[in-house]
Amino acid sequence: MSRKRIDAGIIVAFQDGEHRILRDGCIVVEGNSVVYVGPSYDEPVDEVIDARNQLVTPGFINTHTHLSESPLDKSMLEDVGSRQFSMSGLAEMLPARGAAIDAEGRRQSVDYSMAELIRTGTTTVMEIGGIGDYVAEASDKAGLRAYIANGYRSGRWLTTDGKKMTYEWNEEAGKTGFKAALEFIDRIDSTGNSRIKGFLSPAQIDTCTAELLQESAEAAKSLEVPLALHVSQSVFEFDEIVQRHGMTPVEWLESIGFLNKHCILGHVILTAGNSWVQFDGDDLSILARHEASVAHNVWVFARRGIAMESFPSYLDAGVNMCLGTDTAPQSMIEALRWTAVIGKIMRRNTQKSTAADVFNAATLNGAKMLGRDDLGRISAGAKADLLFWSTDSMFMAPLRDPIKNIVYSATPEDLASVMIDGAWVMSDGRVLNVDEAAVTAALQDAGDRMWANIGPGHWAGRKTDELAPQTFADFRADGAALAGSAAGSTVA
Ligand SMILES: [Zn+2]
Repeated sequence: MSRKRIDAGIIVAFQDGEHRILRDGCIVVEGNSVVYVGPSYDEPVDEVIDARNQLVTPGFINTHTHLSESPLDKSMLEDVGSRQFSMSGLAEMLPARGAAIDAEGRRQSVDYSMAELIRTGTTTVMEIGGIGDYVAEASDKAGLRAYIANGYRSGRWLTTDGKKMTYEWNEEAGKTGFKAALEFIDRIDSTGNSRIKGFLSPAQIDTCTAELLQESAEAAKSLEVPLALHVSQSVFEFDEIVQRHGMTPVEWLESIGFLNKHCILGHVILTAGNSWVQFDGDDLSILARHEASVAHNVWVFARRGIAMESFPSYLDAGVNMCLGTDTAPQSMIEALRWTAVIGKIMRRNTQKSTAADVFNAATLNGAKMLGRDDLGRISAGAKADLLFWSTDSMFMAPLRDPIKNIVYSATPEDLASVMIDGAWVMSDGRVLNVDEAAVTAALQDAGDRMWANIGPGHWAGRKTDELAPQTFADFRADGAALAGSAAGSTVA
């Protein structure tokens, strides 16, 4: 097995249970693992990588994505929201969009996501969707580490009048989907040199029966796989669970025995005490007590004017907070920054929601939830999932505290190279196993087709321009003006 020594200017190395800063050190990689990190290494090696003007950090664990859809959120889901549904996009926008994406468009979204994720710091991704086999194949080819779930549910929400949410149930579909999800895990688990793994994802708390959730929790425990569920993600979902069970969504999950250390709950924004729902309770202690983790996807809410209240308070309550990107852009660099900043705003405290808090959430906390002590850290025995950042680029200079610069200043351009499982997947700013120009052009085609197809999936058949008007009106051809002409020319 070939042995590589990476000489680096700065290394975020793991020691005594936490990240530490090692200056002018080296990392030795053998096969897909780190075998040494420290000040110097004198044993013979096959290759020396000169990263003396770079900062090497562990790769980020992105705990919540929908790769076959999310890239197509761009240009569409921003600046719009329905007051009736407390600004949630779930009622009107997602069904309209979901029905308009064709099968090819879903695959094109996945292909594009591979490059987007690698370029913005994700080295381990958790994906919830419906074309898991394709995601597994794409991840294998791109070199990404992936946990993949084919989602399932016993019903769906819908609105028929744009005012009220209702539910349409099909319990058989939930059971069939669960069975297929188990078979899927069996089929793909540990493919791609063990980089590809499966997990379970009943879709949403309000669209699954108690029985389906309980069986899912039992299966996750016996298979020792993560268990993802969307929880407390909209006011109407919170109210629905309160009306059905007289409890908050988190309280109800506890009451049916769903919560355990395998749980990675998506969002958990509308908890007891949140100002959007004004309901008494102590959801955070319940989550902490059961060691359930939260996938916090700050941007999908922040762009609608909704925030967790607050990220540092969840940490203080002892909840294992992980980060995800969910929507577009699928950038962990942005997830770190928005989480830090919105956390400070909501807590009204600059000293909370720090660079360390969000960096840990994107690395060690994600690894803890996955039950992996070989991810999210640079230490002997860990997988070689490494990010190589420039230290002398425009947005990284001046550099004194590398974690603060990554969280508050870095752009994707400052991420120079990426290694996953000991192999380069990005080098000198170029993603290696994906044709970036081709996948970008294909995503544009997928968007063009989707925007043209929007209508049938919306309760009132509304088209793209009605649902998401262009920011500025079209320029009028008859209003074109020559310099010096005060009123503009008129066409007779
Ligand atoms: Zn989601």
